[in-house]
Amino acid sequence: MSEVRDLVIVGSGPAGYTAAIYASRAQLNPVIYEGSVTAGGALMNTTEVENFPGFVDGVMGPDLMDNMRKQAKRFGTELVTDDIVEMDLLGDIKTLVDGSGNTIKAKAVILAMGSAYREIGLVNEKRLSGHGVSWCATCDGFFFRDQVIAVVGGGDSAVEEANFLTKFASKVILIHRRDSLRASKIMADRAAANPKIELLWNTEVIDVLGDTKVSGLKLRNTVDGSESELALTGLFVAIGHVPRSELITSQVTLDSEGYVEVVGQSTRTNIPGVFACGDLVDHTYRQAITAAGSGCQAALDAEKFLSHH
Ligand code: NAP
Repeated sequence: MSEVRDLVIVGSGPAGYTAAIYASRAQLNPVIYEGSVTAGGALMNTTEVENFPGFVDGVMGPDLMDNMRKQAKRFGTELVTDDIVEMDLLGDIKTLVDGSGNTIKAKAVILAMGSAYREIGLVNEKRLSGHGVSWCATCDGFFFRDQVIAVVGGGDSAVEEANFLTKFASKVILIHRRDSLRASKIMADRAAANPKIELLWNTEVIDVLGDTKVSGLKLRNTVDGSESELALTGLFVAIGHVPRSELITSQVTLDSEGYVEVVGQSTRTNIPGVFACGDLVDHTYRQAITAAGSGCQAALDAEKFLSHH
């Protein structure tokens, strides 16, 4: 492809789609690479989103993303269901390569690749992934009907997953490494009130047991160091996320945890014409609404940049 686009957006969560809505309304003729597997990002794996403003009765995560996608399309965004696998961002004209081998050139790029599930880092966690170990309750919860399972983590994701999984499982053990949850009060209260959830405090998972499928966990008490085993058939890991910045590490300035560094309150990276938004930059807030807000900022920053170049 020899044409040079004004703007390419990489990633399709609330940040990417919001950037696309604003950029297409500003006549920047953007193309958005939504990803080859899960267009819509992390919210595609959630159930009801209760705190996105404007939806009095809540909205299902996938429906919210589908609406954003349609809104971006309505204003002329070109949607491509593929991954970007290479980026050369340093020159005036940025060159990107997609998963089908096509080359795309653009004057500006918005990075909105989001984040990936964090892993505990155990060899058997990986080996038994898909055989009792999962990162997605909405995808896999159904397989654990009437079984005893565990969720590891203490944030909103872990509590949300645990609550959701009680629809299927006979018991959900929420394993947290400290003695208080990080989750918001409303979510924590819901877990405490759910008779199918049992909280296991000050405990870390040090091994996942099982030959061809999960049969139990090896645990360590973080206070006294004692070790124990727990028989169960499923483990859901919900211990946060890591930014998806691996494609750009040698070009864009990242912080020590791999998040893209931006200038002040803008979405400008160290490279002129390259902007970053959403979970890729956000250590702190990581909400659908804050990601959408930063996607809007990125589009406005890109529009300003393009009007000067
Ligand atoms: P999070 O808030 O970063 O919580 C991660 C949890 O995992 C923490 O409790 C942490 O323990 C624990 N953890 C981290 N590494 C671990 C390890 N190696 N082993 C064991 N435990 C580990 O992540 P999150 O729950 O995914 O939430 C991310 C953001 O999305 C938050 O801002 C949250 O509010 C938001 N969110 C909101 C909703 C909602 O509003 N409905 C739903 C889901 C997520 P420590 O507490 O000891 O650090």
